[in-house]
Amino acid sequence: MNRKIALITGGSRGLGKNTAEHLARHNVDVILTYHSRHEEAEAVVAELQASGVQAQSLQLDIGDASTFADFATQVQHVLKQHWQRDTFDFLINNAGIGITAPFAETTEAQFDQLMNIHLKGTFFLTQALLNLLADGGRIVNLSSGLTRFALPGYSAYAAMKGAVEVLTRYLAKELGPRGIAVNTLAPGAIETDFGGGVVRDNEEINHFIASQTALGRVGLPDDIGGAIATLLSDDNHWMTAQRLEVSGGMFL
Ligand code: NDP
Repeated sequence: MNRKIALITGGSRGLGKNTAEHLARHNVDVILTYHSRHEEAEAVVAELQASGVQAQSLQLDIGDASTFADFATQVQHVLKQHWQRDTFDFLINNAGIGITAPFAETTEAQFDQLMNIHLKGTFFLTQALLNLLADGGRIVNLSSGLTRFALPGYSAYAAMKGAVEVLTRYLAKELGPRGIAVNTLAPGAIETDFGGGVVRDNEEINHFIASQTALGRVGLPDDIGGAIATLLSDDNHWMTAQRLEVSGGMFL
């Protein structure tokens, strides 16, 4: 039987990279994308290959839907060339950025950037890749704990993620006949470069979040990559249209 192949957007750093590492431990091959950090992406590819799975990287700007048809063609070529396959199995819509601004000061440009990257990007990239995603495959859309609880400064970002959660349910319904399961994974605050690395680097914020988290600390990338790999395991094939929050119990 063919090994499974996952396409992870934003796999050069942070949660996408960690997800790739965890999937590799489950013998899943990986196509990862990066935006500008080609060297980081190649380092992840080399690490994955050294661990025994196949891996490739592709450039993608998730904020520019006009490039998605061309990107899908590139994915098709990579699948043919390196896997002799026409399809991949798991799509993980992970690439993203954080912008923090009070509601009253959020600009239209900030709103549009967040919308293009998180909502329009997820919507139209998934659409562009539909024919390359195998029947019986899976989609995981990354959301955020910020759709359940409200922290000042995240109104635009969280609104996009909320829309991604609605989109997840529609995809689950419309792709269900093809046997494709679609779920949302919503991390709590995790120590990555996200939002300028504030959760990791700002001691005050880090301690505050830890104090509001049932398991008593801020999340680490390993807390998320492992959860996504588990979500995508064969044992978990009957779950679809769900929002899973992986936050260590933030703001219960
Ligand atoms: P990081 O900043 O660590 O990594 C972001 C990744 O996305 C990088 O691979 C980056 O590529 C890629 N990326 C950024 N902008 C674009 C773009 N315009 N087009 C394509 N790729 C892009 O972030 P995280 O790993 O922390 O975040 C991953 C996801 O998790 C995001 O969707 C985020 O919203 C979500 N999330 C994160 C939380 C956290 O606390 N960290 C909490 C809840 C949700 P490159 O390296 O080339 O720049």
